[in-house]
Amino acid sequence: MPELPELEVLRRELVSSVKGRRIQRLRILKPYVLRNIFGGDLRNEIIENITRRGKYLVIDTDLHTISVHLMLRGSLEYIASAEKIAKSAAAVLEFADGTRLQFKETGHKKRMAVYILPGGEYPDGIARSGIEPGAREFTVERLAGLLAGDSMQLKSFLCDQRKIAGIGNAYADEILWNAGLSPFKITATLNDEEVRQLHNSIVSVMMWAVEQVNRAGRPERRNFLNVHGKKGSRCARCGDIIQTVSYSDKDTFYCPTCQTQGKRMKNRRLSKFYR
Ligand SMILES: [Zn+2]
Repeated sequence: MPELPELEVLRRELVSSVKGRRIQRLRILKPYVLRNIFGGDLRNEIIENITRRGKYLVIDTDLHTISVHLMLRGSLEYIASAEKIAKSAAAVLEFADGTRLQFKETGHKKRMAVYILPGGEYPDGIARSGIEPGAREFTVERLAGLLAGDSMQLKSFLCDQRKIAGIGNAYADEILWNAGLSPFKITATLNDEEVRQLHNSIVSVMMWAVEQVNRAGRPERRNFLNVHGKKGSRCARCGDIIQTVSYSDKDTFYCPTCQTQGKRMKNRRLSKFYR
């Protein structure tokens, strides 16, 4: 699933490709994609800006706010040529100059969601979003407050969009590896130094990842990751073997030496002894 870095790079691409374009019409090809009642076609509206909030892309026209969650396999593709609309397209924005933006969905479950609301109105998922890692207000003190108010494992905390927005399964693993913290450690138990380290890792890993994704050009390939998806590889920092543990539908990757004092976790047994 795309997370903050992939979405941020996509946002920049969309700013350069579709910002300022006049919409000829919106075509909804697969009704499931539109998650609220909207009967219009956005005719003659101008795309004024594209922003990102957590894992949502927000396209503002002069009259409406289009919020898009790509979920697992959704994508937005700008088509400048006469190329046909893909079979997997769920919606298309046609522009007055003949170019298009297609909303593509290649997955079968957890499908892309689009909300078209009056300008400045957002779906609940955005309204309930937590703080952005890149926001000025995201300080060590703010993070300390969020951590202290909760008793949950760090991995779940980082993936909780209502606490901090934009981080998912992959980058949560990268952040915790970078910070040298156990994914299973309980939020309220972090000391001051650990909170400072975690804050630093959240900010620096997100900035680093945006640059990496930008450079890779292919957002679906994350060859630059250090720990997520790297089971059996050697840790770049200490040489230990990266381990994985599955819990609910998420796989967590970690380095035992760097993060869990050498302990290896068992699947489904995230017991209190390993915090
Ligand atoms: Zn290591």
